[in-house]
Amino acid sequence: DALPILINVQVQDSNDNEPKFGQTTYKATVKENSVIGNNVVTIKATDLDEGPNGDVQYFFGAHTSDLVKNVFSVNSNSGEITVIGQIDYEETKVYRFDVTAKDKGTPELDGHSSVQVTILDENDNAPEISLTSPPSSLTEDAPIGTVVALINVKDPDSADNGKVQVNVASGSPFKLKPSFENHYSLVTDAVLDRETYPEYNVHVSAYDSGSPSLKTNTVIKVKILDIND
Ligand code: CA
Ligand code: CA
Ligand code: CA
Repeated sequence: DALPILINVQVQDSNDNEPKFGQTTYKATVKENSVIGNNVVTIKATDLDEGPNGDVQYFFGAHTSDLVKNVFSVNSNSGEITVIGQIDYEETKVYRFDVTAKDKGTPELDGHSSVQVTILDENDNAPEISLTSPPSSLTEDAPIGTVVALINVKDPDSADNGKVQVNVASGSPFKLKPSFENHYSLVTDAVLDRETYPEYNVHVSAYDSGSPSLKTNTVIKVKILDIND
């Protein structure tokens, strides 16, 4: 009788599975001016192989722009994507980039996914007031409604953060008349008196509707010319 022969077969894992991401796109939202080190999203891929064949590391996709790499980093071991640079909503409102998971097999296999980071606006810009023409001098008999200057207000923030209201300090013989969007005419609103005020300092304030609201003040100097009265 032949003795039974024991054959010891060792099944060695071959690298036949690529890392697979849990999602085809990872979506996240981040506030602008987010603190360096803030977590954005964590990407995760699984690999059914064993040992190095199943050991996954994470990277940016091959064609990721510096614009993205200057602002975000991918932790190759944990898959955690964090903020590493200045995020400005007024510059970039959404970032899209590809990510890769690679195993440590020979040859290595990889899997792919993408990340979309939407930036949320913060009220980080105060309104700007600018004169679109230098203020003209007035004669003291200027009729009510005479245009003195043209004003433009701007605020690059979005929605309420960029919605601007502008007014002249109360008690002034001037007022603002809206013309077209964000443009105003500074006009006389009362009889002027050169003997009392040869020059008026018109205090103009602009404030946005963000919370907290940001405000800008400016002074427009208007000269009153004498007429022989
Ligand atoms: Ca593998
Ligand atoms: Ca902003
Ligand atoms: Ca603003």
